[in-house]
Amino acid sequence: MPLSLYDTLSREILPVRPMDGETLRFYCCGPTVYGPAHIGNFRTFVMQDVFRRVVEAGGMATRHVRNLTDVDDKTIRRSQEEGRSLAEFTAAWTVRFHADCAALGILPPHVEPSAVAHLPEQIALIERLIEKGHAYRAHDGSVYYDVRSFPGYGKLSRLAEREITTDAPEREQADEYDRHSAADFALWKAARPEDGPNRWPSPWGEGRPGWHIECSAMAMKHLGESFDLHSGGVDLVFPHHENEIAQSEAATGRPFARHWFHVAHLTVEGRKMSKSLGNLHILEDLAARGHRPMELRYVLISGCYRQPLNFTFASLAAARKALARLADWQRRLGGPPDFLLPGEEDFGPFGPVYDALLSDLNTPEALGRLHRIGREVVAAAEGGTLPPQEFETARHGLALVLQCLGLDLSETDTTAPPAPEAPAWVQALAAERLDARRRRDWDEADRLRDQIKEAGWLVRDAPDTSTLEPLGPPIAT
Ligand SMILES: [Zn+2]
Repeated sequence: MPLSLYDTLSREILPVRPMDGETLRFYCCGPTVYGPAHIGNFRTFVMQDVFRRVVEAGGMATRHVRNLTDVDDKTIRRSQEEGRSLAEFTAAWTVRFHADCAALGILPPHVEPSAVAHLPEQIALIERLIEKGHAYRAHDGSVYYDVRSFPGYGKLSRLAEREITTDAPEREQADEYDRHSAADFALWKAARPEDGPNRWPSPWGEGRPGWHIECSAMAMKHLGESFDLHSGGVDLVFPHHENEIAQSEAATGRPFARHWFHVAHLTVEGRKMSKSLGNLHILEDLAARGHRPMELRYVLISGCYRQPLNFTFASLAAARKALARLADWQRRLGGPPDFLLPGEEDFGPFGPVYDALLSDLNTPEALGRLHRIGREVVAAAEGGTLPPQEFETARHGLALVLQCLGLDLSETDTTAPPAPEAPAWVQALAAERLDARRRRDWDEADRLRDQIKEAGWLVRDAPDTSTLEPLGPPIAT
């Protein structure tokens, strides 16, 4: 049975099958290497990793391409602020990204193309678009894509023309004054003084590529003009992926990616992730608070990829307990087998866990089943009701589903998890409530208690003080 997965383009759950019948070829938009990736970025990379592992566990070969965005406004600006060359600056953040991925058990892609290393392909693609009348050169030497020349524009995001023309202001530069239409986007950006040495020759003068053309060119170079699946965070649907489709399909006249897989947002303690709220957590922060990367991975797969997921420190603590329980069961079943046969499909009693993953990558259901079946199998094994040959199958099946989920139990922490601390804004509400109680303003105190509860915390009152406890286990344990 192939994996079935929601496709953003058709709005349907469709089987994921390789068009060549052999190798599933897919492209994931990679990181912009100008700083550490945060836990919201990693939600997408971890879910893409589970996707790949599930496909491979079914015996299917994959070709996984994930790029590095190593030239754009942010990489250029930051490298200059630090007085380093763009190459040196992005190389350092690439090393860091690889280390974080390894800690989270994310398999390295088969090909990791760099945008700077693919300038000839990007220039060739832009030339092709100009020849076919889909792009035009502006007075300053920039080249724009003519959105009105591609009738399929908007088919992925299904935006009306009115919405499309509002554009994404942070992605595009204000200096694009001679665009024919507000929706037209830059394929090539003419060099500006502030770019410093970060300029490359082109038939239109010195400059650098736009972000969207980078991905189209790298995807087609390494996967062909048409390939099986394209993936990224849901924030990339528009304009990035819409623009990738427009560029690629206008140039080749062929469908670009057949299936589009997008991962929803992560919120932190009930709030949107943002720099101003100081909640763009990175692996380093979590380690400083005593948490392990595998605990984060567990939390990131604990929600359905199509729904926003709320990250909390209480869920990290619950993840540690869940991982410790799984490690204990694995030990009681004789430990992991010495080797796993690739493509082997005998999940034994853990088959329903794999089935949940095949059904639109339902990781929360898979984790729920894993705990339920694990408990039953261990009880049967220790109660003497599991036949010896099934013991071996169970041991093997457990290892296989853990491999699909990418949960490495070899370094599971069995110590008590750090007590989750309420975020500062919830603590401030609790302090406000304490004041209300001291004033005997019970209505206000009740109102604040409800507000705190909505944020996922329970207030416990003591004489002249109060403490905060996280509400309920937030994830399957
Ligand atoms: Zn991309």
